[in-house]
Amino acid sequence: MSEPDFVPEQPSEQHFQISQKAAETLGRLVDGNGLKAEQVRLARHETLVHQLPGAIFIELKPDFVKGQLSGKREHGKVLDSEAAVIAAATALAPEAVTDKNVQIELLQVLDQDPGRGWGMKPFKHPLKVTQKQFCVVDRCSKCAGLASYPCTTCSGTGGVGCVNCASTGQAQCPACYGNGRMQSQDGGYIPCQRCSSVGRILCTACNGVKSVKCGICRGQTKIACTECDRSGFWTHTYDMTFHAEAKFEMDRELMPKDLQEIIDRLGERELATEEHAEIFRLNQNTEQKLLVVPFLAFLPIANVEFSIEGKQYPSGVAGLTGKIMGIDPVLDPVIKPGINALFKLSKGPLAAEALIAQACKYRVLRQILSGLSHHSKRQVYQTITSEYPLVISDKFIKAGIKYAGSAILAISKGPRIKGLIRGNIIAAGFYAGYYFSPAQMYNAAKIGALGYAKFAFAADILVWLTGYFITWMTVRYMAGGALQKLLPGEVVNNTDRGLPPAGEQGTHALGTTLVAWALCAFFAFQKPAWVLTLLKMAGVTIGTP
Ligand SMILES: [Zn+2]
Ligand SMILES: [Zn+2]
Ligand SMILES: [Zn+2]
Ligand SMILES: [Zn+2]
Repeated sequence: MSEPDFVPEQPSEQHFQISQKAAETLGRLVDGNGLKAEQVRLARHETLVHQLPGAIFIELKPDFVKGQLSGKREHGKVLDSEAAVIAAATALAPEAVTDKNVQIELLQVLDQDPGRGWGMKPFKHPLKVTQKQFCVVDRCSKCAGLASYPCTTCSGTGGVGCVNCASTGQAQCPACYGNGRMQSQDGGYIPCQRCSSVGRILCTACNGVKSVKCGICRGQTKIACTECDRSGFWTHTYDMTFHAEAKFEMDRELMPKDLQEIIDRLGERELATEEHAEIFRLNQNTEQKLLVVPFLAFLPIANVEFSIEGKQYPSGVAGLTGKIMGIDPVLDPVIKPGINALFKLSKGPLAAEALIAQACKYRVLRQILSGLSHHSKRQVYQTITSEYPLVISDKFIKAGIKYAGSAILAISKGPRIKGLIRGNIIAAGFYAGYYFSPAQMYNAAKIGALGYAKFAFAADILVWLTGYFITWMTVRYMAGGALQKLLPGEVVNNTDRGLPPAGEQGTHALGTTLVAWALCAFFAFQKPAWVLTLLKMAGVTIGTP
């Protein structure tokens, strides 16, 4: 794990076998298509192994988890501001990138990739091994760092006016009610001893001071700030980890254009994942603030001349899988008689068996016939073009599919007509069963009762469509059965369960089922409302002179 690869001085033997591999591939493609695999020969070949440099560039970037603690707390390195924290963390990246543990963690990520990182899409990876704490200590904004703020109730004086004496310090004497004298028992007046005849005494609540202690700050003139836990400070905490941002780049600067084109056709990433190239990962190094993981890919490219039945086919082959990059459509002239047979078949059923036999000599045409017996033309086209790359031209594949399609319709015409008749009989039976039994009345009554009388007609249409669908499927089913008999056993694959198209008989079924359905509806014992309406309209027309 995470060790660099050993790069051999010479490319291994497999690089020089790609022409042979391509010849085998070509042999498999032409085999059974009017040619035999062993007829494909390697006339000439010349292989060059290109060394392609590439590298993954990895940069570390900080991520922060922020928090707040009240008071002055210890939490890593103390800095002045958040900007300073970000700057300090970013400044740590070039050093972190040289850290062995960081490098091992990143190389292990690359090792999980099929190409050990070659061609990887840009990715981010959170690093477990890098952690650092920072903090910024701020004054509390509520108390401005004073840990307390002046009491607003007493305006910071610690006292409030005495309510008892309205801040006068004196109160009416309770003994003489302010008169200064009291009535004696004999009816005369005597001076008040309590207030010495003044009528007023000192306020008992404030002792004459005129103010009392503030109840809010308890006379302390200020209130402790609970926001900052009475410290006057806040600690902003920053828990930093690095994440890696990596991107792969191939060094194309010195590469010739045609080599670049071949790489693009094979796919930069696919060089590794599809094993077109032999990939070596070299020793990582650090460059400025980046970790650079260099690669070297060995990609063999061959100039080949194949010889098939004495004809020469120059071709290009690339990659360890021996992929043929360009060749003339070898099979076009070979399968031409088969396509001609399909063309003749599409014109009518004359000599059908001989023509089918002629077309079925070719594996690709058997595949097309089999495909079209179960699938759409588009699906068959996709299958054939991917299975026979380059060796059959697009024009020939399209012609083969077109004529095979018409041929299938032509040779299954009789069975499709049988299917149309049979399906129509089944549909008519279904219609009769509906209109000559209480089912339709019951349905109409039920729908009417629900207040949806106008939908009764829609229900009847649905009955017609069901019959049509039965007929359409019967046509296709009969055609499928006929093709199974006509085409060679190998063509009709048991795993394919689709049915051939219904052709024009499918369209005809629309008309024939409509007639059967309408007849059943008109002759029903209990005619549907829409039939009665139609009869009434017809009656009115006939009745009017
Ligand atoms: Zn505070
Ligand atoms: Zn106060
Ligand atoms: Zn008094
Ligand atoms: Zn008072």
